[in-house]
Amino acid sequence: MKSTQAKTVIGLEVHVQLSTKSKLFCSCPTEASEPNTAVCGTCLGLPGSKPFLNKKAVEMAVRTALALDCQANREFFFSRKTYFYPDLAKNYQITQFEKPVGENGFVVLSSGKKIRIRRLQLEEDPASLVHEGSAQSSAFSLVDYNRSGIPLVEIVTEPDMDGPKEAREFLNALVVTLDYLGVFVHGKNALKADANISIEGSNRVEVKNVTGFKAVETALLSEEERQRKTISGGKKVARETRGFDEKTGSTFSMREKETEEDYGYIFDPDIPPVSMSEKYLAGLKSSIPELFSQKVEKFKKSGLPDYDARVIASEPVIAGIFEQAIKQVKPLTAAKFLTREVMGILNYNKITPREAGLSEKSIVGLLKMIEGGLVGEKNAKVAMIKHVLEKKDPCDFLEKNNLLLDLGEKEIGKALEEVLAENPRAIADLRAGGAKAVNFIVGQVVRKTKGKANAKIVQELLAKKNQKHLM
Ligand SMILES: [Zn+2]
Repeated sequence: MKSTQAKTVIGLEVHVQLSTKSKLFCSCPTEASEPNTAVCGTCLGLPGSKPFLNKKAVEMAVRTALALDCQANREFFFSRKTYFYPDLAKNYQITQFEKPVGENGFVVLSSGKKIRIRRLQLEEDPASLVHEGSAQSSAFSLVDYNRSGIPLVEIVTEPDMDGPKEAREFLNALVVTLDYLGVFVHGKNALKADANISIEGSNRVEVKNVTGFKAVETALLSEEERQRKTISGGKKVARETRGFDEKTGSTFSMREKETEEDYGYIFDPDIPPVSMSEKYLAGLKSSIPELFSQKVEKFKKSGLPDYDARVIASEPVIAGIFEQAIKQVKPLTAAKFLTREVMGILNYNKITPREAGLSEKSIVGLLKMIEGGLVGEKNAKVAMIKHVLEKKDPCDFLEKNNLLLDLGEKEIGKALEEVLAENPRAIADLRAGGAKAVNFIVGQVVRKTKGKANAKIVQELLAKKNQKHLM
């Protein structure tokens, strides 16, 4: 029975690509269309080539450490992690070991639980290996050195997560923080994780190189189940490193676990230690924008319920639009439309807010029309879909297509008379106090006028008629 009750213990090593223009130790671009075109002597590891540290990458890493409540080290240096593999032309990776950029940080989950961060370090990405065939038995592999030398921060947590769900939430929170900092573009920059997972009392397994945070959760769920089955079957979980096959959604054995000592870290003499003044560090600290939890508090103060505040704050682009919008419309009007319609449309079309290239000005314009009663809910949504998918200005679209609520009371009254004449049963229900009948009649009038009658006005006219017994 022990196996079903024992706790799952998970720690993560997350590698995120920093969104710099050039690589960590050379001036090669971080973006290229053809394989092996963004390369030079340094990132190909040619003899005699020397690395030069990218200042922008250092700043991004330090700011990330500060945003994750780490102690930022004013002095740190780089080490060589030696191993032989085709993705590493110089047979060592430049990373950090003894003294990383930051230490002892944390992320707070929605439950209030703290996930501790042991260290945050800056390092270079190895080349990418393209396996032809399946991940487990490829016919041959190709190497692309475009990725060799791309700056990564590695964030190592303590084993504080008690299941795949918490791991997923941690990654979500991490990505939101990185997005606010402007150091990582979700959907464009790479995110990879190695996960240490064990069932309390059993051996620890490392699942290596899982790409994307949805895949991390899938890999952990499958590995957790495998370990529990092994234990309940009376067998021992082997201490090993496993890979993750996205096609099957399961993990597979790769090799026995190596220890950090096996890598033989040595100080890299080519890169002088980094030393920052108090003033420089303070400058980086003051460049950190408001982050998720501060935004949530601020939005709640503007009158939003906790849930809406969290949903909006979890998408920095949407949060930015919300902050602009509430200078001109009521917070609840903006929140309702942004969370239900805008985020709904993005989710449905699987587009991130950043990819959508949303125009703050256009959306605020649309919100003003909604609040002013110039457009109905349905047409506002249609206009928003046009904005997301076709980059059209929603207000322009509504005007050009004659979709604004521009019918006067007289015309609306006429349409209402017609609807009432066609629906004697609804009138009877209405007299009996049926709220459903009101909605029905209003809906019919909006439909009859092809969405050009303001539902609020219809409702008012109907109420007046009912009071004066004019039906
Ligand atoms: Zn290069």
